[in-house]
Amino acid sequence: MTDKKNLRTPIVCVMGHVDHGKTTLLDKIRGTAIVSGEAGAITQHIGATEVPIDVIVNKLGDPRLRDRFMVPGLLFIDTPGHHAFTTLRSRGGALADLAIVVVDINEGFKPQTYESLQILKRFKTPFVVVANKIDRIGGWASHKDMPFAATFKQQSPDVQGRLETKLYEVIGELYNQGFAAERYDRVTNFQKTLGVVPASAVTGEGIPDVLMVLLGLAQKFLEANLQYSAKNPGIGTVLEVKEEKGLGATLDVILYDGTLKKGDTVVIGSLGEPIRTKVRALLKPRELSEIRYESKFKQVSKVTAAAGVKISAPGLEGALAGSPIRVSTEENLEEIVAQVKSEIDEVRIDTGSV
Ligand code: GDP
Repeated sequence: MTDKKNLRTPIVCVMGHVDHGKTTLLDKIRGTAIVSGEAGAITQHIGATEVPIDVIVNKLGDPRLRDRFMVPGLLFIDTPGHHAFTTLRSRGGALADLAIVVVDINEGFKPQTYESLQILKRFKTPFVVVANKIDRIGGWASHKDMPFAATFKQQSPDVQGRLETKLYEVIGELYNQGFAAERYDRVTNFQKTLGVVPASAVTGEGIPDVLMVLLGLAQKFLEANLQYSAKNPGIGTVLEVKEEKGLGATLDVILYDGTLKKGDTVVIGSLGEPIRTKVRALLKPRELSEIRYESKFKQVSKVTAAAGVKISAPGLEGALAGSPIRVSTEENLEEIVAQVKSEIDEVRIDTGSV
């Protein structure tokens, strides 16, 4: 078996039309992870939430699945929407390795549903469609956090029929957009057919299935992309430039390769010349149990991809959200600066066309 340590956590972005349930879904995934595990089951990152594989496997109730998946978990970007997807880049591609498109099963496709699909097609990002709000289907009997097949079995034939009708409207729309799609448990080849998971972000029904499909997609399509070594110099993408009391300008960063350490020299994209600076502190959010501390952050000496982290360093004011950040050595500083510069130009030209 491939060494699990060499695959990093895939980064997931949630997309879809306004009010179709993106935020609720992210909250549910976060909540699921918190309640299902003992302390430490979930890690809150800066700008992202990590759901470890053990939490997902527990949720699915089949420990044998543990060995089927090689990724250590899933890292969800906390900001939903396609703006986050398109502005957050890595090496010219999308920062997110995987995506979820949420569509309200009762309302069907809306402008931002179409847009999300076009964007994912353009970036060739593997994704799953969540046919959300199944609990609103007339007569639906909710079963909190239950996998889809189990809750579906317990519905009356009428309700099952209503779900299928609505689901196949969604599948028909996907077909019109050029995607062969099917209810995910009827998909035999995810290479050819898009999986659609009926779910409810409010009751949690179908959510274990969504997580499992994402793990399956990572396993099938991303193995090469997710290879990394913790020994590599850190590479990341700036989520946000934020003023923090006592720290001045800080960067919220998603690290997607290698390791970033306190004291590292980093090069960051800006409107002008790339910024060269030294990491003064790496900050992570405190756990809920640590709120007695005055600061909401705690210092760590290093982070390894994939992870969200806040960077405190001198001279970050001009940094640009969406731009790259790379660790450099003294020897390759000029080379890294040139690389960051060319990546910035690429992003700028490209975002004009979204
Ligand atoms: P977003 O704009 O896509 O982030 O949508 P939100 O997550 O803010 O959800 C919009 C509204 O739909 C809120 O009132 C949610 O409570 C509700 N909602 C989201 N998902 C579900 C669901 O699965 N079932 C039901 N009944 N309501 C939902």
